[in-house]
Amino acid sequence: MLLALSPSSSWPGVLMSTQPEQDTLQRLSEEIIACRACPRLVTWREEVARVKRRAYRDWTYWGKPVPGFGDPEARLLIIGLAPGAHGANRTGRMFTGDDAGTWLMRALHRAGFANRPRSEHRDDGLCLHGAYITAVVRCVPPKNRPTAQEITNCRAFLQREIRLLTHVRVVVTLGRIAFDGYLAALREMESAIPRLRFSHGMHYHLSDDLPVLIACYHTSRQNTQTGRLTEAMLDEVFARARSLLTPEDASPDSPRSFDTR
Ligand code: SF4
Repeated sequence: MLLALSPSSSWPGVLMSTQPEQDTLQRLSEEIIACRACPRLVTWREEVARVKRRAYRDWTYWGKPVPGFGDPEARLLIIGLAPGAHGANRTGRMFTGDDAGTWLMRALHRAGFANRPRSEHRDDGLCLHGAYITAVVRCVPPKNRPTAQEITNCRAFLQREIRLLTHVRVVVTLGRIAFDGYLAALREMESAIPRLRFSHGMHYHLSDDLPVLIACYHTSRQNTQTGRLTEAMLDEVFARARSLLTPEDASPDSPRSFDTR
């Protein structure tokens, strides 16, 4: 039995029972967009959308929770932290309209997972091939810092995505919060998920039944403008993801891997 939010629920703890076969990515997206479970984030996302940044004053900001997007048959799942204030909270699509999205999309394009190197708005023609992008929190948090309770509130949405994306073989988490959030989501769904430490570039074989997990620094400006994350480092991550999707290269003995099986 899959636990799912009712569109009218105001709190993830208020769950209704949904048979897994009744759940779809479309239904999940509609429920995410309607969610108002975190009062602080509801206030903030709407305030950012009302005040706007000067450069975008002609835009009608999205100002709502942002669902994941991409290929429903994705074998690569990319998990970020949360919508950017003037990126996804403005455009309504994850990693779209800001520097973090530009860095990510250029890398996905170079690795063959995206048909174009830019992610500007929802109708820009971007198409992901074999990849799906989501986040552990769907509403922009003040200072990009969601509280532990807000991450917990949003977890059921990520868990439903994990169940619906049945072809995923590799998960790339961007930043420590996404890394920990993904493992926490798995831990509630599976019994034996070990405690792991985030380390950029490491990949983790959790079990024979779970996708390989790759840890990557977030593509935020704090990382890309300081040189903590370079394009070469990002390319290495997605080249590793690509190679792990090819069975003959998926050895747990690959460089910088950690086997928990
Ligand atoms: S962060 Fe998630 S749980 Fe909280 S209001 Fe937004 S969509 Fe709902």
